[in-house]
Amino acid sequence: MAKIITIANNKGGVGKTTTAVNLAAALRLQGYDVLLVDYDGQRNLSEALRVQTSQGTIYDAMRDPRHHVTPSRLLSVEQGVGVLDAIPAARELSAMETELAKAPDKVTRFATIVDRYRDNYDVIIVDTPPALGLLSVSALYACDAAIVTTQPNYLAVRGLVTLSDTIKTIGTNRGRALPFSILFTQTDQRKSLHRLVIDQVNGSGYDVLSTTIRDNIALAEAPATGTDIFRYKPRSNGARDYKLLATEYTNRNKDIKHKKHGYK
Ligand code: ADP
Ligand code: MG
Repeated sequence: MAKIITIANNKGGVGKTTTAVNLAAALRLQGYDVLLVDYDGQRNLSEALRVQTSQGTIYDAMRDPRHHVTPSRLLSVEQGVGVLDAIPAARELSAMETELAKAPDKVTRFATIVDRYRDNYDVIIVDTPPALGLLSVSALYACDAAIVTTQPNYLAVRGLVTLSDTIKTIGTNRGRALPFSILFTQTDQRKSLHRLVIDQVNGSGYDVLSTTIRDNIALAEAPATGTDIFRYKPRSNGARDYKLLATEYTNRNKDIKHKKHGYK
């Protein structure tokens, strides 16, 4: 049974998509079978990894849950390494929020769909849009844990209060608490402000991942090549940080388990 992890923050440009892509790639290198779901109509993840849409998109499945979408194979298994599959987004997804708002299963439909893939992977990572609309809320409803990415500056961190309240409410509504961790991205340890903000958040009761993702140009360049950081620049700080993140995350979440799925 895969653990479903939703990457969320209602702000844009805070490293959600970069984290979805590179955490997935890092987990695959540690032997896990990973599925990425691009649940953002901006399609940044789909484009960054050149995910084919010929087998359908998450929009097709959301519009008609009877529609089965076969994930696209991005990277196959090798010795000691898992698979990386992805379900792409479609532009129409952004307009879908209004349509979905009228549906009785508006919050649960995404969970119903994504649950179908649980048996085929060890981890499912969902990338969400930069808004706390129905898409992000239903992705949070569907997950076992969330990662909130943020830059370590004052205004970004102030936004965490609202976001964490929403996450708590979702947990209450579904009758199952929703654990979430904060991941600082685009950090620069030379900036005393960054250090100060990280210390403050650490001291205010949030669950903060001790790995931080440094500002690293290679992470911004990789999408242009259609690859993750490990194929683009395996020796970069970006690759090092995401590898450390995968190790920290799996050490802390023992419910992420290797299962043989028989992929070739
Ligand atoms: P979001 O999905 O939250 O909108 P992205 O992951 O798309 O954010 O990141 C926003 C921009 O910042 C992108 O151009 C991305 O390549 C870049 N970026 C993300 N993380 C880093 C990092 N650690 N170092 C340098 N650039 C980064
Ligand atoms: Mg994004």
